[in-house]
Parts: sequence; C-alpha cells; structure tokens
Amino acid sequence: MPFDLARLHPDAQAFLARRGTGQGLLIDNDWHSSASGDTLPALDPATGLETARIAAAGAADVEAAVAAAARALPGWRATVPVERARLLWAIADLIEAHIDELAELETLDQGKPLFVGRWAEIPGAVNQFRFFAGQAMAIEGQTIESSINYQAPGKQMRSWTVREPVGVVAAIVPWNSPLVLTAMKLAPALAAGCTIVLKPAEDTSLTALRLGELMVEAGLPKGVLNIVTGLGNQTGAALATHPRVDKIAFTGSTATGRAILDAAKTNFKRVTLELGGKSPAIVLPDADLDIAIPGVAGAIFFNGGQVCIAGSRLYVHRKIHDQVVEGVAAQAKALKLGHGLDPETQMGPLVSARHAERVEGFLARAKAEGATMLTGGDRHGEAGTFITPTVVTGVSADMEIVREEVFGPVVVAQVFDEIEEVTALANDSHYGLAASIWTEGLSSAHRLASELQAGTVWINCHAMYDASLAIGGIKQSGWGRDSGRQALDNYLEWKTITAMV
Ligand code: NAD
Repeated sequence: MPFDLARLHPDAQAFLARRGTGQGLLIDNDWHSSASGDTLPALDPATGLETARIAAAGAADVEAAVAAAARALPGWRATVPVERARLLWAIADLIEAHIDELAELETLDQGKPLFVGRWAEIPGAVNQFRFFAGQAMAIEGQTIESSINYQAPGKQMRSWTVREPVGVVAAIVPWNSPLVLTAMKLAPALAAGCTIVLKPAEDTSLTALRLGELMVEAGLPKGVLNIVTGLGNQTGAALATHPRVDKIAFTGSTATGRAILDAAKTNFKRVTLELGGKSPAIVLPDADLDIAIPGVAGAIFFNGGQVCIAGSRLYVHRKIHDQVVEGVAAQAKALKLGHGLDPETQMGPLVSARHAERVEGFLARAKAEGATMLTGGDRHGEAGTFITPTVVTGVSADMEIVREEVFGPVVVAQVFDEIEEVTALANDSHYGLAASIWTEGLSSAHRLASELQAGTVWINCHAMYDASLAIGGIKQSGWGRDSGRQALDNYLEWKTITAMV
C-alpha cells in the first residue's frame, strides 16, 4: 500500500517540493543541479516508489565543491573558537526544532521506524553538534622541556606545540543511520576549523540536504560545507581521489574502505575509516535473563540489523542456551513489520532491493551449508524490501554466516561451555568493532571486557552510544575513532615550534 506523501509533516512536503527535484548540490551556500543535469531516484524502500530525485554529481561538480571548500579554508580556520562553537550550537538548535520533519524524511528514505530517528538517532546528531561546540573551545597544544644542548650566550630554547586544522575534508557516509553518522563527521571537522565536502550515500541523501539548508540558516559561511550527492564509484571516487582534499573521513563497508585507502595514497591524504563489524553478544550463565533476552534481541533487530555495531553473533552458555535462544526467537516473531511511518511499526524494510537480495543470498548460502532458521529467513509482504527477523542455529565457526557482516536482521546463535572458549570464539573474527557481555558477575565482566578484541565493550547493554564516547574498531573494522574527544584529533595536525629566546 503506497504511503500517501500528503500525510507527511508540511515542512517535509515543502522540502521535497523544493529540493527533491535534483536541485541538491550545495556549493558556496547556493543550490545547484549537476552540471550534466543527471539525477538519481530517491526510493521509499517500504513501497519501492520514487519520492524525490537527487542530483548525480560528476567530476566537474566535485571540482567546484572542493574548490569552494579550499577557498573557504583560510577564513574558517582563522575564526576564534567561540565563533565556531556558536555556529555548531545554532545548528544543534535548528536540528532540534525540525526533529519531526527530519525523522519523517529519514524514515521515508531509509525505511527505519519513525521512533528510531525521532528518539535515538536525530537527538544523537543534535548532541554531536553540542558536544563539539564545547570541544571547539578546548583545543590545546603543549609546552615541552627539550634537551637541545645548543645554548647561545644569554639565550634559552623554548618548544611548544599547536594544533592546526587538517584542511579540506571529504566526508563520505553510508545509508544505515544517515543523519547521525553525518553529524559525527561534520561536527568535529567544523570544531577543528576544517572545511568540508560531504558525500551522502546514494540511497539516503535527503536528510543531508535538509541539514545543509539548516546549516546555511544557522549562519554557515560560504564554502565551509559543500554537499555532492551521487553514486559511490562516480561522485565518491572523484572526491576521494581529488588532489586538493587533505583528509577522507569515511564510514562504510570494509570493501569500500580499501578503495578509499587506494584513493588516499596519491597525495597521502589523512584517512579515518569506520568500517564493518560482526560483533559478539555473550550471555554468561549468571546473566539476568529478563534484561539479557530483550537486550540481545534488540542488539540485532534494532534498525533491522543495519547497524555497524549490531550484535550479530550470539554466544550463550550451555546451561541457559535453549531458554535464551528461544526467548530471542520469540521476540523476533513478535516484532511488527511495516512502513516506518506507521507508528505501530517496530521493524521497517531493508534500505534497498539490492541490499535485501544481498541478505537473502547470505541466508540461502547458510541453508545450503546446513544451518537452521529457527525463525525468520523469509521475505515479508507484497511490496518493499522486508525480511523477517531471523535466528540462525546449527552453525559452525567457519561458516560464512558466522564470519561475514550480513547487515540485516539476522543473528547466528552458538553455544559455549567455558569462558576461555567463548573468548577465543568471539575474537576469531577479522572484525573488531564492538561486543557485549551479559552477566551479574563482576570478575567475569572485567575479564572479558579486557580480553575481547573490540573498540567498544558494553556490559549488560548493547549499542549505547553518546557524543562523548569514542566509537570505532580495531582489526578490519577500521582506523581511528568517531565521537568523543578522540574524534577531534582526526581533524587536527600537530605543529612543533622551537624558538631561541
Ligand atoms: P559502502 O561502503 O557501500 O558506502 C559507503 C559510502 O561510500 C557511500 O556514500 C558510497 O556512495 C560511498 N562509496 C562507495 N564506493 C566508493 C568509492 N569507490 N569511492 C568513494 N566513495 C565510495 O557502505 P554502505 O553499504 O553504504 O554502508 C554499510 C556499511 O557501513 C556496513 O559495512 C557497516 O558496518 C558500515 N558502517 C560502519 C560504521 C562504523 O562506525 N564503523 C557505522 C555505520 C556503518
């Protein structure tokens, strides 16, 4: 049943009429079509229907956007920190004032249930801008006692360091949580004094464009943020290889991360990579199951499993294995699937037909390898890209479904007996993004938290994140951290100054 766009918030309708016709490149605070006039469809994944057109930027558009960012850099980096903080705070206030409209646009474009954007992700984006407004005023160098033994008569040596913005940043983001992941790049980059060219994902560009409008309204100086929409292997590749780009801040798949590294080597761009994951959720025999069962179910089914930190590998101690796995399956069966804009919906469609087919491919291969679908594993509904929440059992550690990121509502459950065994199983992955431990035992929690190979470990919770907390991975989950004070370092260089005084 097509969703009637006339039911959208009036501001969301006005935005689609204004910007959803391919007029969506932001360069020097003006909105443009692509030089070629090419556009791409924005599709509602719940129905497959077109809701808008976005511009497909080519090399000439990327050139213009990068040139605008380069022109704006000297002025922006020279601003006093409080001026940058004021802009960031004003952006946060405007996002908050437009939260209902932004949440609807995010759902229409990405498919997620409205509550996910409205109560989790968009408030998360607001907090990114507020947190980094503070950080803009907390950038510090050091004074250093050196051992330089050259001493001219009557003179002394003094050394100190200062932090300087990296320069022009290419921010390239994925489709699973578009607005908050965009805020995670823009807020620290602006706080540091960098200028930016943003490339949203081709499947979900709408909220980035609305954010661009709000940033202009907040007082964004010309050229400080520019937005180019389009395909990854065209617009994205042109941006990533551009010689005037100083840094690439990338979130996306591990495979594209490798292409980004190749693109960066031409002029040794600085690179941060927030990549894929296959995060374990480990339930020990002393866990509080009233918390653990809904907790591990939420860890995988939130946002349809399209979450980099999703708890997609479930390890349960033999004593409680059947109770937990059946409990998670019962939670899966009870989830109400539907259009994300229906307030009753608990899980929406996958982002695109292409992605749904990819997830189905994983499930078909797992079945062929002998895995069992305890629940789910099917398409749901006549239209759209719905896949039922799936619990897979009967797997072994070497199967593709255990090793590779599915990025859908699919959890693989495995049993363990000893803590050493589950530590080894959990760490037997080329990913190292996140993990959760479910236990009432302080010692086991501490021990596992220290031994698990992951950038983030949660205890008796999963996917709790905040603008103040660094997030990112080890191993093939990436380089560097988003969020938290650590993220500011991504956008700053060190300069050492030594003087004879
Ligand atoms: P993707 O790698 O396909 O695309 C990400 C972005 O890169 C998109 O904007 C795309 O257009 C662009 N792109 C694609 N090819 C490019 C190229 N050759 N050069 C430059 N840009 C290019 O990823 P996706 O499918 O959009 O997102 C899902 C992935 O993102 C999952 O693997 C997920 O784990 C990961 N992710 C990681 C984090 C994290 O914090 N670690 C957060 C969210 C998502």
